[in-house]
Amino acid sequence: MASLLFEPMTIGPVTLPNRLVMLPMGSGLPGEEGFANDETIAYYRRRAQGGIGMVTVEASLIGPGPSAIGPELRLHDDVFIPDLTRLVAAVKAEGSAIGIQLWHPGRQTNLSEPVAPSPVPLSPRTPVPRELTREDIHEIIEQYASAARRCRDAGFDFVEVHAAHCYLPCEFLSALVNQRTDEYGGELDNRARFLLEVVAAVRDACGEDYPVFCRITATEGVEGGIDIDEAVQVAKWLAEAGVACLSVSAGNWHTLHLSMPPMSVERGWLVPLAAQITAAVDVPVIVAGRLDDPEMAERVLAEGQADLIGLGRALIADADWARKVRDGRRAEITPCIACNACLDLISRGDQARCAVNPEVSRELVWELARSPTARRVMVVGGGPSGLEAARVARLRGHTVSIWDRDERLGGKLDVASRAPSKHEVLKFRDHEERMLDALGVEVHLGVEVTPGTIDAEDPDIVVVATGAGPLVPAIPGVDGPQVVDAQRLLLGQEAVAPGSRVVVIGGSATGCETAELLAAEGCAVTIIEMLPFVGRGIELVTRRQLIRHLRESGVTILTGCRVSAIEADRVVYERENETGDAVPCDRVALAIGWLPRGEDLATGLDGRPHIVVGDAARPADFVAAINAGADAGRTV
Ligand code: SF4
Repeated sequence: MASLLFEPMTIGPVTLPNRLVMLPMGSGLPGEEGFANDETIAYYRRRAQGGIGMVTVEASLIGPGPSAIGPELRLHDDVFIPDLTRLVAAVKAEGSAIGIQLWHPGRQTNLSEPVAPSPVPLSPRTPVPRELTREDIHEIIEQYASAARRCRDAGFDFVEVHAAHCYLPCEFLSALVNQRTDEYGGELDNRARFLLEVVAAVRDACGEDYPVFCRITATEGVEGGIDIDEAVQVAKWLAEAGVACLSVSAGNWHTLHLSMPPMSVERGWLVPLAAQITAAVDVPVIVAGRLDDPEMAERVLAEGQADLIGLGRALIADADWARKVRDGRRAEITPCIACNACLDLISRGDQARCAVNPEVSRELVWELARSPTARRVMVVGGGPSGLEAARVARLRGHTVSIWDRDERLGGKLDVASRAPSKHEVLKFRDHEERMLDALGVEVHLGVEVTPGTIDAEDPDIVVVATGAGPLVPAIPGVDGPQVVDAQRLLLGQEAVAPGSRVVVIGGSATGCETAELLAAEGCAVTIIEMLPFVGRGIELVTRRQLIRHLRESGVTILTGCRVSAIEADRVVYERENETGDAVPCDRVALAIGWLPRGEDLATGLDGRPHIVVGDAARPADFVAAINAGADAGRTV
């Protein structure tokens, strides 16, 4: 049966080759001045080369002033048009349609003087925004119109007004933020006035035939915020106002797990809400929400729940997602594990990088040229950096073997996947195994590699990717029989009896995930962390979800506490400027940190060429590990 995903579609004057849409996501690639530079163009061109039907370029500032979050594209002056024109030409040359998102961040910005419909701060820690006057509102509407006209002149097939995620138009829609008493506040029709005036001004500036899309929030997911009934009504008004397509998302700053669902949020959760909007309007609807399962995406179209499938992080993880699905190569898709590392980097003003795709943000220079000399490469360690080093080295034509002391490849991927909220990590391990197998990489498992093993193999170069071992602190009692490395618990190498009282020392990712697992197994768990917070190193959305889950599971979290002794039946700790206290327990799990162990092997290599990569050199996250492994594969 023909796939609905690959049926062409027409929206106004635009013909899309298929029903797959790249959703607008920040890339962190534009230069400080807001131009579409070569890196930005290469990034979007690469996604178009992957066969996506329509690219929506990231949220782009309509007004002047400092950037809102990090480097962003700008649309407030004609000076930006030439580079935008180059961007459009590059994407269209690959056969994709292209639009761009018009964005005013409202109060969701790191500016010291944000603006909003009403002086309602984003959180107790952020500045109170200045309430927009009517004059301000009219000026901003004019900025939308001028920005849209520039985009049309640059050749974009459409513009999309960003009215989701509680940026400015959504703030007007939300009764939680909009407390105005003039014609822009009050009942929903008044709260929608700003958005509808923006749409009218954009259509006025660009011509009635020019497609204007709108991205809306189906629900803010908080009491008193926009709900699906309000969203359906707004969608109807937008369609009546001439909007050509609606893109359905959800969430606000407080419910980021709805707009950037981590792996603990069910795939396709947004579809039923999008279906209500689809049923209420006669314009096409795009739906998001981790629809990177091709069968699920196909079903959404077949059941008429939406007209187009929006893909975001799936295309960061694998720019060729669409092409691989179309060509029946689904097993080759690099899966997005919804770790949100990419979005975390962008929100901190950095360029996007990915935990499973080292090409991201390096599209301009990324090349896996065949090595002029085929070498015998021995990769020791089958964690993320070793896997990626082996894959990339093999793609460059080397003869590659990978060795691991465990009976299965994966290393820290396996450890990370054991927490209830991290199950999808293994999809990447499985993918890498498939790729190595397809490429003909020799795999040796259950082997403790020594310098003697390496001498016997006699490779041209060794990639030392042996990872890191647990850091054991010098705490009295740390060598007690009740003390165990948290990693061993995660891996099931040691068990704790259900109902046990367990203290986890260290509240970073491993500590929190161990606590989550033990709580799920019926233990009474306490985390003791030195820092004033737990979840260091975990990106914001996942961390919020994880901490919420820990609290719901009854885990006690003690922060700002230093453990001073481990005794047979309790852990003693101190708080700054306070007398100590103790937590009674049966078992203690150590999750303090990691010590690189690459040098253990490297020092015995006796002058043989080698590279130490990933955690073996410096313990860090998956993004760093994957990129370091790939770089090793590119240089051997
Ligand atoms: S960094 Fe994580 S969430 Fe982002 S695309 Fe890569 S795998 Fe997906």
